[in-house]
Amino acid sequence: MSKSQASPRRSNESVYQRLGLRTIVNASGPSTRLTGGIMRPEVAEAMAEASQWCVDLAELQGRACEILAEATGAEAGYVTAGASAALMLASAACLAGLDPAKMNRLPDTTGMANEVVMSRSQRNMYDHAVAQAGAKLIEVGIPDRFSGAGVRDAQVWEYEAAITDKTAAILWVAQAHTEPSLKEIVTLARRHGVPVIVDAAGQLPPAENLKRFVAEGADLVAFSGGKAIGGPQASGILAGRRDLVQSAALQQLDHDTYFEQWSPPASLFDKHKLVGFPASGIGRASKCGKEEIVGLLTALKMFLEENTEERHKRWLALAQEVASGLKGVKGATVTLVDKKYKGAPAVELTVHEDELGFSARDLVKRLQDGNPSVHANHARVRDGMVVFGPTCMKPGDPAIVVERVRAELKAK
Ligand SMILES: *Cc1c(COP(=O)(O)O)cnc(C)c1O
Repeated sequence: MSKSQASPRRSNESVYQRLGLRTIVNASGPSTRLTGGIMRPEVAEAMAEASQWCVDLAELQGRACEILAEATGAEAGYVTAGASAALMLASAACLAGLDPAKMNRLPDTTGMANEVVMSRSQRNMYDHAVAQAGAKLIEVGIPDRFSGAGVRDAQVWEYEAAITDKTAAILWVAQAHTEPSLKEIVTLARRHGVPVIVDAAGQLPPAENLKRFVAEGADLVAFSGGKAIGGPQASGILAGRRDLVQSAALQQLDHDTYFEQWSPPASLFDKHKLVGFPASGIGRASKCGKEEIVGLLTALKMFLEENTEERHKRWLALAQEVASGLKGVKGATVTLVDKKYKGAPAVELTVHEDELGFSARDLVKRLQDGNPSVHANHARVRDGMVVFGPTCMKPGDPAIVVERVRAELKAK
């Protein structure tokens, strides 16, 4: 196949074919590695439409602020280049507040309160984003529950012992099993006047979670736009306290203008309270364009309009097609499970390694390296299980998954 980008557009040919690339079936989930999910045509069309005009970026974010405030119940909201970008901006907001001199200095936090306290058991690769703004992560607690040495996770008193006049924020990572609870952390944080940042990147659906963490007292919450919301891959939401969201916006938008000339939207900025702004802050490296902002807002509207049951039915039908297509396969056991993987249905394929001569991990690799390439969820390969999730599949994909799995199970 020619890799020439100049080849003329032919019908039935995707942009990826024109680039000389194959597409994949994403039977795993909305991971960045697999380019997330399939965007709805309405979202893609809104992005294309957005690209045909110029607007004032601050005004666009000002309108997004109103829409996101309503959707989350927070005082303010902001569209970011992903949940990771939202966490970095949240951290920058807690470090600098509305002080433009501090904004200008980040990520150098010499002399500032720059410590972000978090439970050792919640450390994860995405907390790079919080450190990226210049914060120092302070770990608390002994994760006995996870090491198998005991039953306890971090305790509230352990957080309290770590709070000093150097504390800029507490980071709390939302999961079904997170301890201590957000309410307990918020109570502690309020007593010490410290903001709480919540990483809720993957906590949708249910849609109610858009409001839940704010309602429980979080000062800032980060969501992914490219996961269940179905927005652009490089989009996210930061929602929370108005002064902090305003700080995030000031550190992210391009202000290469005169302060006197700047007429910011009142929905997001209190210009009379500001003495100035950085021309370009630390958030510049995670720029979010008008196409992403419009795409995210369109996807969010559709996400809120599709009720949880409809969405679940759509996913269940795709998972059922995989399960029934694999019924009776030799060398593996097929189980349709529901609400087990982040509330969604899935198909668990337990691989009988003795019979087949290869493992669940081998099967995942064979499927991904084959043609068409199928990416399964590899989270349970240690348990001898390959999982197929429907959330990023489109009609036609289940049949490809079935055909590829059947072919691999027959091969030796
Ligand atoms: C996916 C995820 C992120 C990153 O989200 P992006 O929108 O891809 O930047 C951060 N934290 C957690 C817990 C996640 O699951």
